[in-house]
Amino acid sequence: MNSLLAAATLHNGVKMPWLGLGVYKVQEGEEALQAVKAAIKAGYRSIDTAALYQNEESVGQAIKESGVPREELFITTKVWNEDQRNDSVLEAFETSIQKLGLDYVDLYLIHWPVKEKYKQTWKVLEQLYKEGRIRAIGVSNFQIHHLEDLQSIAEIKPMVNQVELHPLLAQAELRDYCRKQEIQIEAWAPLGQGRLLEHPVLKEIAAKYNKSTAQVILRWDIQNGIVTIPKSVKESRIIENAAIFDFSLTETDIQKINALNEDKRFGGDPDHFTF
Ligand code: NDP
Repeated sequence: MNSLLAAATLHNGVKMPWLGLGVYKVQEGEEALQAVKAAIKAGYRSIDTAALYQNEESVGQAIKESGVPREELFITTKVWNEDQRNDSVLEAFETSIQKLGLDYVDLYLIHWPVKEKYKQTWKVLEQLYKEGRIRAIGVSNFQIHHLEDLQSIAEIKPMVNQVELHPLLAQAELRDYCRKQEIQIEAWAPLGQGRLLEHPVLKEIAAKYNKSTAQVILRWDIQNGIVTIPKSVKESRIIENAAIFDFSLTETDIQKINALNEDKRFGGDPDHFTF
């Protein structure tokens, strides 16, 4: 696990890089284009977008302009809640793929577990997977009870569960469950949306390794077997966030970071969301 090419192996054998670029709230157009190009130039091979982010066209353009062969990249997008409610999951997938300018996506996720809908949505994802339009299918913001409920109808187990996860929301129980089920955990808001970077304990650990707080958090992710997708639109930070393969946290420091957990969410609660 010592480079940006280092990858987790999903339960269907597909390799997914441990580190990727997240592009939530990155503006369609120049901002998204430049951020994704900077990331690919810095060696990133995984990009996490969503229909909701409204920047799939720029992500697609950046992929083309990067000159990196398609098969070397790992592209994730997600089906939004409204499309689950409207039974338009298939159309949503076609729209995403067309905007991205791709023939297939590497990972397609159910963005949130919309009640009474996500099982039906899963069936559509399974179909697309069987047709070879998606290399891996997964979910996002699923709690253990959602995963168990999904199992009652699933022919294919999700390969990934992307959830809010950072030192203040360590998700120990969910991680343990997913490890046993061979569902790869992926952290969204790994940096607590930027709010964790001044945390005194993390700063102290970072100083010891001569690394930034962001790098320590991201290293904590990958040493814990968590795929991570920090977002930045600044080239220097995109480069900084990837420089995490040249050091290791000691077990004691990992435990110190584990002890920061407060079960604190910055984003929505998967059991009580209204969007
Ligand atoms: P992050 O935890 O990645 O934090 C991003 C913030 O941190 C931005 O404000 C960024 O600012 C700042 N930042 C990044 N790197 C550094 C650094 N080295 N030093 C200082 N500041 C830094 O939050 P996100 O919410 O963006 O989560 C990451 C990704 O997860 C998203 O982009 C998206 O792809 C995904 N996601 C998925 C969700 C889901 O429901 N499935 C929900 C939310 C996010 P700047 O850009 O100015 O550098």
